[in-house]
Amino acid sequence: MKRVLITGAAGFLGSHLCERFLNENFFVIGMDNFITGSPKNIDLFKTHNNFQFIEHDVSKYVQIDGDLDFILHFASPASPIDYLKIPIQTLKVGSLGTHNLLGLAKAKKATILVASTSEVYGDPLVHPQNESYFGNVNPIGPRGVYDEAKRFQEAITMAYHRFHNLDSKIIRIFNTYGPRMRLNDGRVLPAFIGQSLRNEDLTVFGDGSQTRSFCYVDDLIEGIYRLLHSDYNYPVNIGNPNEITIKDFANEILKLSGSSQKVIFKDLPENDPLKRKPDIDLARKILDWKPKIQRNEGLKLTYDYFCSLSVEELNKKDHQNFESYNNYL
Ligand code: NAD
Ligand code: UDP
Repeated sequence: MKRVLITGAAGFLGSHLCERFLNENFFVIGMDNFITGSPKNIDLFKTHNNFQFIEHDVSKYVQIDGDLDFILHFASPASPIDYLKIPIQTLKVGSLGTHNLLGLAKAKKATILVASTSEVYGDPLVHPQNESYFGNVNPIGPRGVYDEAKRFQEAITMAYHRFHNLDSKIIRIFNTYGPRMRLNDGRVLPAFIGQSLRNEDLTVFGDGSQTRSFCYVDDLIEGIYRLLHSDYNYPVNIGNPNEITIKDFANEILKLSGSSQKVIFKDLPENDPLKRKPDIDLARKILDWKPKIQRNEGLKLTYDYFCSLSVEELNKKDHQNFESYNNYL
């Protein structure tokens, strides 16, 4: 039985990865420190015979007993609101955390896949974004803590590949959504759905003309699975190229929920990218991958998930862990 370590296992994407690899008959070791994740996300498979969970901060030395075939490094805050509140942990997990996991992959002769992001393109001057574009990132802006940590992550991963012949993969993930996102994580989809379920107006930042391209989680997980098993070692974009303005997206959520609230406008956060759309030609070519789930279908599945949450969960405004984590830098 192949053994895989998944960091960020209690987060949105990590929990879907654990589920997929358990279904593919892997032994899965999940690792997380719960800084933005939730124990609820791993409840589903906690008692599975082929699952082991280790509570640990991957920015500190990572110890795993026994063999490892694969490492999927997904630990990192991912929402702009989260990484603004915990900037130093964000920098550490992308840099020190990645270094630890590369060292572990080398020691275990494992293949490693690291989760990078469309944020490496910053506020892009090329549209749609392809892998050869170097990006337009402000290193000292509020989003720099995330963007630069991910750019460093890519650089050190390529260095381990070139210098140590490590089998490494880099995925550049574009905005992905689905069940098990944290309702209060501040990302636009949980923000809008949460507001519609609480009968609040939907807060569009700026004039809402900025665009994003949303990918349903199952499509992303399929792309990750294919990339991990490919022999390609350079960054690959995975995302859904169906682009929409944030204002139109707010109206789609209002239509879906059938609610009578309105859209209100707030200030656009600093360095908020104006456009984002993946060029996925490379993924099509080398992985024979393309997204299959249309936004209307994915939004319905996600909306139904959020509707099933308790009233207490719906009204929780902040993440209880941040303050205590900031005390231990
Ligand atoms: P998430 O916040 O739901 O999950 C991240 C998980 O990592 C959480 O469970 C958190 O507790 C854990 N974590 C953070 N720092 C840690 C540390 N030092 N040690 C151990 N665990 C730690 O976010 P997500 O959307 O699931 O994102 C997962 C990964 O995918 C991140 O690396 C993110 O940068 C990347 N990504 C996600 C998206 C997206 O649209 N969801 C887009 C681009 C990139
Ligand atoms: N956004 C918004 N209202 C919200 C939350 C986000 O208009 O309540 C906007 C945000 O300014 C950005 C887009 O939605 O332009 C996507 O934001 P998100 O935080 O999901 O991630 P990003 O793609 O910026 O990393």
